[in-house]
Amino acid sequence: MKPTSAPQTYRVKSFGCQMNVYDGERMGELLAERGIVPAPEGEEADLVILNTCHIREKAAEKVYSDIGRLVAAGKEAEAQGGRAPLIAVAGCVAQAEGEEIMARAPAVSIVVGPQAYHRLPEMLDKAQKGERATDTDMPAIAKFDALPQRKKRGPSAFLTVQEGCDKFCTYCVVPYTRGAEISRPFSHLVAEARKLVEAGAKEITLLGQNVNAWAGEDDKGRSVGLGGLIRTLAAIDGLERIRYTTSHPNDMDDDLIAAHGEVAKLMPYLHLPVQAGNDRILKAMNRQHTAESYLKLIERFRAARPDIALSGDFIVGFPGETEAEFQDTLSIVDEVRYAACFSFKYSPRPGTPAATMDGQISAEEMDDRLQRLQQRIAHHQYAFNQASIGKTCQVLVERTGRHPGQWLGKSPWLQSVWFEAPAAIGDLVEVDLAEAGPNSLKGLVRQTVSV
Ligand code: SAM
Ligand code: SF4
Repeated sequence: MKPTSAPQTYRVKSFGCQMNVYDGERMGELLAERGIVPAPEGEEADLVILNTCHIREKAAEKVYSDIGRLVAAGKEAEAQGGRAPLIAVAGCVAQAEGEEIMARAPAVSIVVGPQAYHRLPEMLDKAQKGERATDTDMPAIAKFDALPQRKKRGPSAFLTVQEGCDKFCTYCVVPYTRGAEISRPFSHLVAEARKLVEAGAKEITLLGQNVNAWAGEDDKGRSVGLGGLIRTLAAIDGLERIRYTTSHPNDMDDDLIAAHGEVAKLMPYLHLPVQAGNDRILKAMNRQHTAESYLKLIERFRAARPDIALSGDFIVGFPGETEAEFQDTLSIVDEVRYAACFSFKYSPRPGTPAATMDGQISAEEMDDRLQRLQQRIAHHQYAFNQASIGKTCQVLVERTGRHPGQWLGKSPWLQSVWFEAPAAIGDLVEVDLAEAGPNSLKGLVRQTVSV
């Protein structure tokens, strides 16, 4: 590799989950400390970070096609006297396939895992000298300690509170790519939340692969779970909304459920994946819960907060799944009446137990099941939106809409709501929900609550 001058601009392309979006923001903050700024819209960056996801095959394949595109664009730029971008691969593909990336893609200068990106500046120094750099260590807490202060962002911010997973569902790579479960210390989280609010955040979404496994000690040395953390954050002036994702059914505790009925700033929304509705499949997935125990949990949330919007994740075509077992998944969707859901075709991940199980399902069958599941989910989502008509709620304005004079934001139930009235990003606007579509609602403005 040729030595190159220091990059002036960067672009982070994040794939996959919100935790990657958070990591991408933090990498940007590290680069900003070195005076490297985001590339202007439509311009090539001097440094491109592909912040990858390994959860499904397609996500990993996208990385290689992106590298190919960047190499071609770099050659063209060099032919015209410009520079080819430095390419860094971060995230879970970097963690799982670092060596393979280095071998398969000689144009990549940096491979950095999700727990090591605080060392990105040193790796950049190496890359500038023409050396290739790889770091896939897993010292998660050290990473957070080494990151700079939070910078100004939009009205809605992410805050990673927990990382990693010890559950080892048989289909999932997360325990291998993100490592064991760790909880960030209470005081660090409260300090980071305050900084986010000072920088303009009105809503904070607490993130973790199993966010409700978060545990810590509060400022008086008492053991607290996520509910306790949420109660403390709710006391921060200027913070109007708190959300959290993704939860695991087995990590729920009474205090978190109660918080939904007691903490006004905690939004009435819960993302609680079940993955499948059939107990034999759940067992083969090593989920350690049943369809019935999941439904009982949902009942407790509805008792604490009757209007709570529920969402979940589903996998269709897990090895050995019969049509009758798939029907149980459709049944649980009907029973819960989700407000929104994510659904995926099972993707065999190298190194996971399910990848070598008998009874792998054909691509056609998976397509068919996914389509039927998504129709059912869409039906309930639309019904949930329609049932919201007539409600009055606050919308946190996030961006302008498609047409002049339109604004878009989120309801407490995480629905997209648009309205036409003078407003600004970050406003909390009180609206009457007047019309519902499958994916959004129209609001009629009553008043702007805060600017
Ligand atoms: N920890 C959360 C839980 O247990 O529900 C989920 C985190 S995981 C990063 C996000 C979602 O990706 C999972 O809920 C699952 O539906 C999906 N997923 C994970 N591995 C998958 C695979 N091999 N094939 C298809 N979908 C997968
Ligand atoms: Fe993956 Fe299961 Fe852990 Fe969720 S709980 S991250 S699906 S292993």
